[in-house]
Amino acid sequence: MAHPKVRDNLQRVRERIAAAAGRAGRDPAEVRLVCVTKGIPAERIREAIACGVGEIGENRVQETREKQPAIGREAVRWHLVGHLQRNKARLAVELFDLIHSVDSLELIEELERQAGNRAERELELLVQVNVSGEATKHGCGPEEARRLAEAILRSRHLRWAGLMTMAPFAEDPERARPVFRQLRLLRDRLREGLRDSPLHLSMGMSQDFEVAVEEGATIVRVGSAIFQ
Ligand SMILES: *Cc1c(COP(=O)(O)O)cnc(C)c1O
Repeated sequence: MAHPKVRDNLQRVRERIAAAAGRAGRDPAEVRLVCVTKGIPAERIREAIACGVGEIGENRVQETREKQPAIGREAVRWHLVGHLQRNKARLAVELFDLIHSVDSLELIEELERQAGNRAERELELLVQVNVSGEATKHGCGPEEARRLAEAILRSRHLRWAGLMTMAPFAEDPERARPVFRQLRLLRDRLREGLRDSPLHLSMGMSQDFEVAVEEGATIVRVGSAIFQ
């Protein structure tokens, strides 16, 4: 049985996504909800899955390795939303379907090497961009994103699926809007000449996902608003 609170929270988050999409004249079906489960035990993650969650986001490779057997590798799509160190690339390739936090050529090279060993599944990557330039944030600079995207596109076992960013934390979610808008404009520029198929924009967390959807997010990463 799903916990009623998780069920209610999920429903409210989905309603808020739909309302934000409506305000922007977008189809809510364009927005995927990744349920971020860092620090949440496997039993509670299974409750969320029982409520229809199909995409799980974790921020640590080791934590995922410990929890995933109790949930199942194939039960959902697994997203790595947190920073990835090169020496964890082998494990990350096993545990995740989509990695949001790619921010260096060295990491791309290592992921390509490791992904070659799992031919049965293509690994999708998002380039993480530090739009705001905050020193505490991971991610490449906006001017570096094209070079990283091109490196992924040249790889045999990796697929470039779009961009990700984190806005600086602020009480007022409107403060995140310029960051999200810049990521969308960057995506539009990169799309020219590189790729015709749609590219994801992974942006927006519990604090600011509605603003992100208004600005074009196709993936929102929401944790505390679901598990609070
Ligand atoms: C924790 C985390 C989230 C979710 O944050 P909440 O505020 O709990 O919704 C999203 N993205 C990343 C990269 C995170 O680490």
